[in-house]
Amino acid sequence: MIIVPEREIAGLLTLSDCFSAVEKVFASMANRSANNFPVVREAIGHAEALYGFKSGFDRESLALGLKSGGFWPGNMAKGLTNHQSTVFLFDADTGRCRAVVGGNLLTALRTAAASAISIKYLARKDAKVLGMIGAGHQSAFQLRAALDQRGFERILGWNLHPEMLGRLETVAQERGLPFEAVDLDQLGAESDVIITITSSFAPILKASQVKPGTHLACMGTDTKGKQEVEAELVAAATIFTDEVAQSVTIGEAQHAVAEGLLTEQAIVEIGAVINGTHPGRTSAQEITLFDGTGVGLQDLAVASAAVERATEKGIAIDIDF
Ligand code: NAD
Repeated sequence: MIIVPEREIAGLLTLSDCFSAVEKVFASMANRSANNFPVVREAIGHAEALYGFKSGFDRESLALGLKSGGFWPGNMAKGLTNHQSTVFLFDADTGRCRAVVGGNLLTALRTAAASAISIKYLARKDAKVLGMIGAGHQSAFQLRAALDQRGFERILGWNLHPEMLGRLETVAQERGLPFEAVDLDQLGAESDVIITITSSFAPILKASQVKPGTHLACMGTDTKGKQEVEAELVAAATIFTDEVAQSVTIGEAQHAVAEGLLTEQAIVEIGAVINGTHPGRTSAQEITLFDGTGVGLQDLAVASAAVERATEKGIAIDIDF
């Protein structure tokens, strides 16, 4: 069995490697070659932690396994990230444990890859202004991955806690792009692409604040009850997602569906656009919204890539297990 420790991941995979791995598995999901199994997520009644498993199997790549982990709100005070996860991969032919892979950085990379894929396939080609809502740990990864997809010329940012916006400004500076902290009216009025990546449980962005032709990647809502944009905005957009079952239960679409503003049947898997069986955006005026809920197969895809790279580089720790 191979171990790839968390500390090695940064040197093994780029955002671009993760983009390719996630793009492939989204396509596989839409072909019905890959399945996510039901998610388990529980408040464990200790350390205020939420803990669970995301698992699945991709018959094309033979990636089989699970990501185990969750959210420990007190970790920051211990010098650790609040989100902790580990990926376990199994041999699809024998069921033996094949690899244990640190999953923290991989989670950020695979989540950033998902919204970047949605921008590649759904944003207008002439998108110039990128709006960021949220400035936490994931936001910098989201921003870097998004900037690779279009010729963005300006970045706008809003966060409930404005003191955190420096994180986005630093990434903008890395890329030599202007960054401006703005209110939500300005962000919606000027942005061609908007990424939301917050822990909000109430709508932040309203339908009236978003202009026609915008592409939104709503990435923060991954649990029942969370919400980043008004249900009316979801209803006004064409909705794409990683997985419909998660979108309507734990994703951004859950509220619009519950209020009868959107039907499950109207939600399109992004993999169908990747495969060319759905056209994606059909006009420059259309609002497109990607509901990125985060599926286990994304984790397995990037962890498999990490194992492959670690083995090639001779840094995988091989143990008799
Ligand atoms: P973080 O704790 O580092 O940052 C949280 C962000 O949300 C900050 O911008 C903070 O200001 C903002 N925020 C907190 N409470 C808020 C509220 N009540 N209203 C509005 N904004 C609020 O978290 P992170 O690691 O950056 O993750 C952000 C979100 O993304 C989390 O909710 C996490 O569960 C989710 N996430 C989703 C996926 C996925 O695949 N979809 C993957 C990883 C994380």
